[in-house]
Amino acid sequence: MSLLDLSALTAAYGVSQALFGVDLSVGEGEVVALMGRNGMGKTTTVKAICRMIPSQGGLSFDGQDLHRLSSHRAARLGIGLVPEGRRCFGDLTVRENLVVAARPGPWDLAAATRLFPRLGERMAQRAASLSGGEQQMLVIGRALMTNPRLLILDEATEGLAPIIRQEIWAAIRRLKSETGMAILLIDKSVRELASVCDRAVILQRGSTVWAGPMGEMTSDISERYVGV
Ligand code: ATP
Repeated sequence: MSLLDLSALTAAYGVSQALFGVDLSVGEGEVVALMGRNGMGKTTTVKAICRMIPSQGGLSFDGQDLHRLSSHRAARLGIGLVPEGRRCFGDLTVRENLVVAARPGPWDLAAATRLFPRLGERMAQRAASLSGGEQQMLVIGRALMTNPRLLILDEATEGLAPIIRQEIWAAIRRLKSETGMAILLIDKSVRELASVCDRAVILQRGSTVWAGPMGEMTSDISERYVGV
């Protein structure tokens, strides 16, 4: 049994259906890429997993039916989300941003600052005064402070300078190798995804059209469905 399991998942924004049949699983310790062109349903899938929009079909985490849970309870089960668009609490300090989310476990302030030393140097600063890249590290650190069993990163490197992107990819690699955390990744860089992910799931118009080991995703498949 996988940690996260979606089968034939459908979802709509009001009357406008966005997901038509998403099949996706993430096992313990697995790093999975959720891929597809713009508007194909990646963020909507993440919103459904995190119980931010209603959905139908199979949706379970650790054997529990997520459809029975609120977004708050889904988070407490161990789903940590780094949403699209970097949202930290600008008026709070870095430390406050991190501790508001904290739940017991190995991820504490010391662990978060080991992963992102820049955060350690800026603990007392207001989050609004950080650079975009530092804010993204803060949002990732905050998600880790919830001690999730599954971390979901939706476009975590979007719009950042190349050097900061590299720091974030390095952090993701460390999470994979040092903690064995299950991770679901959405990102535009197919090259980076290919180097870190065990498996990929590709969406087209709200449905899973391909899923398999990353090494089996041929250039034909990525050209056809991802546009590279
Ligand atoms: P992107 O990379 O552009 O974020 P995506 O694969 O994450 O793309 P989604 O954002 O999940 O795609 O969008 C899937 C579909 O749902 C699109 O047709 C989009 O227009 C529609 N959609 C997304 N958000 C809303 C919303 N709040 N209300 C109505 N329709 C929406």
